[in-house]
Amino acid sequence: MSTINLEYDHLSKRYGDTWANHDINLVIEPGSIVGLLGPNGAGKTTLLRQLVGLTRPTEGQVRLGGRTVAPGKRWVKELIAYLPQHPLALGDLTVQEAIRSSALLRGQSRRDADQNTETLLTRLNLSSLRNRQVAGLSGGEHRLVGIASVLVAPTPIVALDEPTNELDPLMRHRVWQLIEKLREPARIILLVSHNVLEAERVLDRVLIMNDGRIRHDGGPLSLRQNVGDFLKVSVTAGVAPERLEDDVQAITTEFQRHETAVEFTASRLEALKLLAQWLGEPGLVASVSVHEPSLEDAYLALRQQWEGNDNQEAEEREV
Ligand code: ATP
Repeated sequence: MSTINLEYDHLSKRYGDTWANHDINLVIEPGSIVGLLGPNGAGKTTLLRQLVGLTRPTEGQVRLGGRTVAPGKRWVKELIAYLPQHPLALGDLTVQEAIRSSALLRGQSRRDADQNTETLLTRLNLSSLRNRQVAGLSGGEHRLVGIASVLVAPTPIVALDEPTNELDPLMRHRVWQLIEKLREPARIILLVSHNVLEAERVLDRVLIMNDGRIRHDGGPLSLRQNVGDFLKVSVTAGVAPERLEDDVQAITTEFQRHETAVEFTASRLEALKLLAQWLGEPGLVASVSVHEPSLEDAYLALRQQWEGNDNQEAEEREV
């Protein structure tokens, strides 16, 4: 597989008064799984659609290996396997035909196409549906056929828009495993997901979008560090849960109490100081668990920061 860089160069898309994205500048090198996260309407799907030439930029360009992407170009289709957000127009085909024809379209021999189709039918629990028309499938089944159609003949660039949306927990797990297996030094995998907790396990790089702009770009660890060094703690009181609650209240407002259990999030230093104090008092604490924040915690904290800033700006405008 040849090595191809993906570049977004001053890319913008405007619909009327709305900028779906605005001045996006990015270089994505092969060998990585890159996640696009962000709230609804942030501009994630638009960024993928610009990559495959389905949405024409208002300004700027997308380049693949130095060549500019434009709508309808055959070379773009050959380079990118794309799973769109909404179900594919494969309705008249059976499940098996839909997957197999994707493999043939991407240049596989009949033998390879048959073999790879069988493998994916099994892995994605689609064997019993092989002769059903795609149009009559449930939302989740339909999505699985879309995923199989991408994975059956992966290209140097794989673009997946919400691959695990509508899937049950077992299938979500399988799909993440299959995505992880696609990682290769010469391949770029760019995916949109709202499932931050699951995506965290496979992502090498996290791009967070809001209001059409990239608000964070880095590894999952750097995002966690970016929003502060905090810990999540759960304690069960041996005696006097009120005492634990009072102590927690003195260091953070982010806590919950359920009978004898207290959960809180606080700065690493404060949380560890408090734990050391409690553990020095025999019987006060029956059990403790301490968690590093997940990518989802960091993502939520970042969103709260933006919303806080946006509200502040709105108030300042009103004054
Ligand atoms: P979601 O997570 O909800 O799928 P997203 O981050 O993928 O959202 P986009 O679909 O890229 O967001 O949309 C970005 C913005 O552009 C939104 O405000 C959306 O309403 C607007 N938009 C997207 N496509 C069009 C269109 N064809 N016409 C008008 N506005 C559009």
